[in-house]
Amino acid sequence: MKVIKIGGSSLKGKKNILDILDLIAERGRGNIIVVSAFGGITDLLIDGMGEALVDEAAISSIIGLLRNKHILVARHTIPAGKQYQRYTRDMNEQLGRLERLYYGLNFTRETTPKMTDVISSFGERLSADLLTCALRSRGLQVTCRMPHKIGLITDGKFGDATANLSKTAQNFQKHLSPLISEGMIVVMPGFFGVSETGDITTFGRGGCDYSAAVVAAAMGAEILEVWKDVPGYMSADPKFVPEAQLIAVLSYDEAAELSYFGAKILHPRTVEPLRKMRIDIAVKSTMNPDAPGSLISSRPFKAHHLIRSVAHDTDIAILKVHASGVGARPGILALVSGTLTDSGINIKSVVTSQTCISFLLSRKDIERGYQALQDLKPRPYRKLSKVKDVALVGIVGPAILRRKGIAARCFSAVAARDINIEMSSFGPSQVALYLIIRQKDIQNAVEAIHTTFFPGS
Ligand code: ASP
Ligand code: MG
Repeated sequence: MKVIKIGGSSLKGKKNILDILDLIAERGRGNIIVVSAFGGITDLLIDGMGEALVDEAAISSIIGLLRNKHILVARHTIPAGKQYQRYTRDMNEQLGRLERLYYGLNFTRETTPKMTDVISSFGERLSADLLTCALRSRGLQVTCRMPHKIGLITDGKFGDATANLSKTAQNFQKHLSPLISEGMIVVMPGFFGVSETGDITTFGRGGCDYSAAVVAAAMGAEILEVWKDVPGYMSADPKFVPEAQLIAVLSYDEAAELSYFGAKILHPRTVEPLRKMRIDIAVKSTMNPDAPGSLISSRPFKAHHLIRSVAHDTDIAILKVHASGVGARPGILALVSGTLTDSGINIKSVVTSQTCISFLLSRKDIERGYQALQDLKPRPYRKLSKVKDVALVGIVGPAILRRKGIAARCFSAVAARDINIEMSSFGPSQVALYLIIRQKDIQNAVEAIHTTFFPGS
């Protein structure tokens, strides 16, 4: 049995959705299909909260917009008849519930993490229902199961939940195994589960990948297939390096490192539930479903190159906290990072020395982060500074820490092009080396390192 995950970017536009339906019809029998919301819908739901909060009148237009978007897809994928009627009835029921939630928000004048999670889960509910009806209208044996009704149990942390795998496995074996053995196609919305006290909890933005991994682990699937609109992992961004190659196989750790960079093929936590059970992940292109794509595997494999990918991230800024004796002062790191986290800022990475802690943040967060630390009383540091025009190169591969000279080759390649390295991090991860350089040098640096390790490609 396979678990197949279909992302929001593949579920956008009538043609793509029809293609996906053909693919499921062809390959879905006896498998579980975990789906995202249609492209853009989760953003709409979340932005709608802000509008509903300040203006009651906005609510009916948000609901109207969601209705139109789904009806448009339904008209193109479900012929008039029983299944179409069933979908519109279900959709109206869901939208009715959603509308009441928005009114509740407007009435209480506050958005809570709990409310945000419930509201943002509606995109997946609507898309799963629609795909189910569309597949049924083709005469297929399909059923839809909602994760909160069949016990995808979470730890209850809103916006960033973790699944309880053993409880979920027990529930799923009971509810899903009989359907699978009958050869049914089971469609399930990703992105959320339910806490033991009955609250809807999401796995964070992009969390359908993680959901699908939880389902695969809970069911002991033979593989998790992630269907995407890209061919798989690449050895560099082809926009920077036209000779970039498809990566055929990579390890869990390499995939987890690469999930933080530009291509963002998988949610960073996707490998977590699968690791222990050694379930592989195949990243496959919906445009070319027979192509092998990239395989993320627990089994050792022989690599053709010393490194797998030269990835990059241009959404980086550094917040530097200068303080003496960082290593000798208990609690300073916790205090400063705790303050950032409490201000809702995601810390991408931290690099420290005895005199400075450097936080890598997303650019949009840098001013807010700076202010939050400015406001700390008493100040636990001597000086704060921010650096904005930087970018990060991530060199990821199995041999990074094991083989001598890899870091030296990266440094030399960059130096040969007269690019200065502002900062680096080497050692914390077995499989990654980070270099921070000026933003203007990014393409040049990625190219230089890529040609070093993939000569003549
Ligand atoms: N629909 C959710 C999001 O856009 C989850 C996902 O697509 O993975 O973040
Ligand atoms: Mg999405």
